[in-house]
Amino acid sequence: MLTLWPDNKTTNMNRKFIILCAVLLGFTVIGCNKAKKTTEKSGADTTAVTEKESATVNETSSPANGPKNSASVIYAKQQVPVLCYHRIENDHKGDYTVSPATFSAHMKVLHDSGYHSISPAKLYDYLVYNKELPAKPILITFDDSRVEHSVIAAKVMEKYGFRGVFFIMTITYNKKNYMTTDQIAQLAKAGHTVGLHSWDHTMVTKYKEEADWQKEVVAPKAKLEKIVGMPVEYWAYPNGVFDHKGAEELSKYFKLSFSLSTKRDSIVPLQTVRRIIVPDCSPERLMKSIHGSFGKVKKA
Ligand SMILES: [Zn+2]
Repeated sequence: MLTLWPDNKTTNMNRKFIILCAVLLGFTVIGCNKAKKTTEKSGADTTAVTEKESATVNETSSPANGPKNSASVIYAKQQVPVLCYHRIENDHKGDYTVSPATFSAHMKVLHDSGYHSISPAKLYDYLVYNKELPAKPILITFDDSRVEHSVIAAKVMEKYGFRGVFFIMTITYNKKNYMTTDQIAQLAKAGHTVGLHSWDHTMVTKYKEEADWQKEVVAPKAKLEKIVGMPVEYWAYPNGVFDHKGAEELSKYFKLSFSLSTKRDSIVPLQTVRRIIVPDCSPERLMKSIHGSFGKVKKA
C-alpha cells in the first residue's frame, strides 16, 4: 500500500510499484547512462533586474519586480538544470539510488566545474521577472524525505557552499529511515528549501474531490509550514506524474511545481518544471546527462 510508505517491509514493493507506474505512465528516466536530447529548445536569456524579495504565490503583479512574464515567454526561456536524487546509501541498487561516495563525487564535479546551486525562489524570479542568475546555475533536489538527505546530502552540499531542495511526503514524519520533523526544520534553518511531495505519495492525477486536495496538499502544506516556520511554496509531483488540470490547480498553492523528465505544459510552465533523475554513475556521465537534457549551460 502506498499509504504505508514509511514501513520498512513495504519499501521494496513501493519502489517496484513506482517504477512500474513510471513506465506505464510514460515518463522517461533520463539518467546518466541514458542521456539524450530533449525535444524542447532553449529560448531567450536573462535580463538583469534589481534584486528584491520574491513575490508571494497569489499575487497577480508586483510593482517592485515589474510585470510578470507571460506563460509563452516563460516557456521559451533557457531551462535551468534540475537534478533529482532519491536514496543515498550503500547496499541498495537501482535507478533511484546513489551511493554516498557517488553523491560526494557528483557535488565535487559540479563545484569544480563552476556550478552554483540556486533556490527555487531564484528560479521563479528568473522565469517570471527575468532576474539575473549566477553563472552555471543548477537546482539539486531530493524526493521522499529519506533520513540520508539530512545526515549525508545536506552536509556534503554545505561543504561546497551548495543548498538543496527537499521535497517531503509528510506521512513519513519521524518514521524509521525518514527524516524527523527536527531534521526537516534544521534543513530550512541551514538555508535549504523545504517543499511538499504530498501526504502519502498519491499521484495528482488521482485527486478527484476537494477532500483529496485537502488531504494531499492543503493540510500537509499547513503542517509543514508550521514545522519549518515559513511558507512552503514548491511542490514535486509524486512519481513525477501530472495532468493539465492538476497543474492548473497546483498554481493556487505553489509558485513552482517540479515533474521529472516529462515534457512541460506550455500553458502552465511554472507548474511543470523538468528535472532529471540521477542514478549512480560517474561524474563525467552526470555532466553529459546535464548537457544532454538541458543543453550547454552558459559560463560566467
Ligand atoms: Zn517520490
